[in-house]
Amino acid sequence: MREWFYEEQTPSTRIAVEIRKILHEEQSQFQNIKIIDTIQFGRMLALDDVIQVTELDEFAYHEMLSHVPLHAHANPESVLVVGGGDGGMVREVSKHDSVKRVVLAEIDEAVVNASINHVPSFSVALKDNPKLEIRIGDAIEYVKNLHEEFDVIIVDSSDPVGFAEGLFSREFYGNVHKALRPGGMVTIQGESPWYKYRPMIKRICGWFGEIFPISKQYWANVPSYPSGVMLFPVGSKGNDPAIPIREPVCGLRYYSKEIHKASFVLPLHLQVEQMEEF
Ligand code: SAM
Repeated sequence: MREWFYEEQTPSTRIAVEIRKILHEEQSQFQNIKIIDTIQFGRMLALDDVIQVTELDEFAYHEMLSHVPLHAHANPESVLVVGGGDGGMVREVSKHDSVKRVVLAEIDEAVVNASINHVPSFSVALKDNPKLEIRIGDAIEYVKNLHEEFDVIIVDSSDPVGFAEGLFSREFYGNVHKALRPGGMVTIQGESPWYKYRPMIKRICGWFGEIFPISKQYWANVPSYPSGVMLFPVGSKGNDPAIPIREPVCGLRYYSKEIHKASFVLPLHLQVEQMEEF
């Protein structure tokens, strides 16, 4: 009999993904964790039955959320990844020779362990990585106490629910601004601009405009996320994030100089000034 995983993307929309085998399931202190081998997407991490990362398309998401700020910043040496326990973001950030220190601030150690044990393609850079420091704990609290410590901060969070909700607040972005060194940049996982998070995206982009000297948005195509489109708000204390200033690092499958520039060209209905709530 065929077995299916369902994600409820909105109260009236679900996606169904055919399961080959459930490789791992546990209830951690924070959430339900599943690693499923699927027919369409390969291995997939789901938290509380929401798809987080899949082998088919994770490169698109991880490359775009990390390499845009890392290729636009003057000299990124110190990088904070908020959330990101699967390791895909750390893998991409670690490709930059200029980066000497990567801190992964993940609340749930069980996500890190599940990824290490079941999906080496995500977690490859979580082991034997001399640049990496893993801090298990609430990143909201961690960021509160930082002052000009990071060149780039990447918020690779789960959806704005429960313990992740504060990662989508004005107060958190104010603390991120304080945690960034002069010239620093922040990018965040900004959800799908087609469905239920549209009003939140508009609100966040407004806050970025108030907090950061430069605030922009770009996008990428990631099929396993609701509607297949992800919007990424970016804030900068220095360079224009839309302009790549160095050659791309090696081993990429989505990011290029051309894609970097083109990803800031948004359809009219996604331009924040014109964005209306559906
Ligand atoms: N790429 C994914 C997406 O867009 O759905 C996100 C992947 S990553 C697995 C998200 C991680 O954020 C989860 O492992 C979750 O535990 C972590 N997280 C959520 N809230 C957090 C918080 N307040 N502090 C630190 N980590 C948090």
